[in-house]
Order: sequence, then C-alpha cells, then structure tokens
Amino acid sequence: MKAVSLFMDVEDPINPLADDAALDFPRLFADQGVRGSFCLTGEKCRTLKQRSRIDVAEAYKPHALGLHTNRHSFHPTTMELLADLSFDEGCEAAYSEERQGFEAFCDLFGRNPIFWGGGGNTWSPEITDTLKRLGVPAYAYAMTELPDHAVHEFNGVLALPQALSISETDWADDRRASEAVERVLRSIETIDQPWIGVFVGHPTKFRHNEYWDKPYYFGRTPAEPEFVQPVSDDVYKRSKYNLREFLGRIKEIYRVIGVDDTVRMDWRFETPSTEDFAHFESRTSASLRGATGWPPHRLGLSADKIVDKTMNLKHTLRRATLS
Ligand SMILES: [Zn+2]
Repeated sequence: MKAVSLFMDVEDPINPLADDAALDFPRLFADQGVRGSFCLTGEKCRTLKQRSRIDVAEAYKPHALGLHTNRHSFHPTTMELLADLSFDEGCEAAYSEERQGFEAFCDLFGRNPIFWGGGGNTWSPEITDTLKRLGVPAYAYAMTELPDHAVHEFNGVLALPQALSISETDWADDRRASEAVERVLRSIETIDQPWIGVFVGHPTKFRHNEYWDKPYYFGRTPAEPEFVQPVSDDVYKRSKYNLREFLGRIKEIYRVIGVDDTVRMDWRFETPSTEDFAHFESRTSASLRGATGWPPHRLGLSADKIVDKTMNLKHTLRRATLS
C-alpha cells in the first residue's frame, strides 16, 4: 500500500490568534487518529516558550516534527543569506543560523527535529551540510528534483518532494474543498511512487486572510509588529471541518505516516539515469531561479551562485527506491 505524509507549516510568531490556531491542528489530526508531519520554525518555538504555551507544545508531541528554518521570512532568508557566499562560507553561515532554530526546537520539544523544511520558497545547498552536522536525516519540500516526484538523496541527506497540496482558500469553500480533495486522491493514485508528500496548509493561514509575513515582503522589516486580519469564526470552522473530513477519508485509503516513519522506510540508493540527471539539472535550476520571486525576497536577488553550488554537488544525487 502506498504511504502518504501530510504536512502543515507552523510559523507565525506575530498574530495573537496564531498560537490558538497552532493548537487546533495537531489536536484535529489526533482526533482523527492521523499522525501529521508538522514543520515549526525556531522563532515559533521561542515564542511559544516565552508565552508559556506548554499546551501547544504538548499537542504536537504525538506527531512527526520538523524544523521549518530558524526564522523563515525574517531577513535574511535562506537564499538572501547564502546567495553571494562561496560554498564553504555558506556552510558556516547556514550552520550558525539553523543551529539556533535546532536548539529552540530541542528546547521546546525535548527531542530533535526529524526533518527540515525550507521556508516558503527559499533554499541553498549548504543546508544539506548543516543537516548532516545537526544529525537531521531529511529535508522536505525539496527544491532538488527528479522525475515524477521521486524521493532521492542529495549530498548525503534524504530529499522528500512535495507532490501535491490543498490550499487554505480551498479548505474555506465546500465546493472547492471537495474538488481539491478529489484531485489529490486521484493524483496519489496515478503518481507511481511508494511515498507521496501532500501539503495541507498553515494553521495561521486557516485563521487569517493574508500570510502573516506580508509585512516582510520585498526585503522589508517593519519597525513594529504588523498584523493581518482574521477570517470569521464561521469560515475558520468550515475550513477545519473540510480538513477533518479529508483526514477521515484518506486514512481509509492510504497508509498515512509521519516523516519519521518515511525516513525509516527500507530505502535503497541508486545512481540516477541520464534522463534523471537531465531532469535534475533543468528543473532544479528553474525552481531555484523561480524562488527568487518569492514575495519576502529582496528585489534583485540572484540565484546564479546557488544554482552553481547545487550543480557542483550533482555527483552526490541518488535515486531512492524501496528494496
Ligand atoms: Zn512556511
């Protein structure tokens, strides 16, 4: 039976309702008997600790948990930090940044993150060096890419692609939600992979009608916290209801596992084919160049050096298959 992991990102340290939203979703998954794969920023871990939200931290403990970068959209983002550095300089800079997130995560949960997930659309290959140094075995939402969403290894770290997603705008509308659910269930069937990653949203974006990091767009850092507007309680309830129905349905069809169990699957690593390498080169380069347009990124950010550094590690690429 195919395995599926369901991801949510928890990252809003600003808006007052965000902590309560962060509490609702791990409980919603647990109520449905589904283990989620939740990705929390170091900054979110620090704020939950400062606000003594032990209830929130406890609610996440039954799930698979990852680090969603140290500070996500705060500047410099991962790409802004590493775009102009040599690979060796970048390894030191990435480690010194992400180690802070790792420590905040371990301090809150009393355990290590099992994976790392890039913020929004930002990444550079030095992250894989950091993950090895921190003992984090996998990265999710991989910007490195093989055909058909295949799991792979890059620079010695397991890379998990996000094949499918359902947006908060879809969850908020019954008709859109049901169409999105049908699309995702059909697509899982047609993707010929033993494991498939599905992203189902951000607690804070279920609760608010804008992304929390809008004040940080285009390289900006506001002097004081700026808030975004919440959606109505009715819309929030409706969205959660639709997600709950989906969880009840997908667990009857597929084996829904946390990323900790994904990492422990019996992966074998093979040298990629010529076609795999060609796909990797063209698609990974295009994704990295496209990522400079992620709204928080400063204008004029160039991915040239990040693409070069990534391609210099092409020889470490392995296709992951199950034995
Ligand atoms: Zn995020």
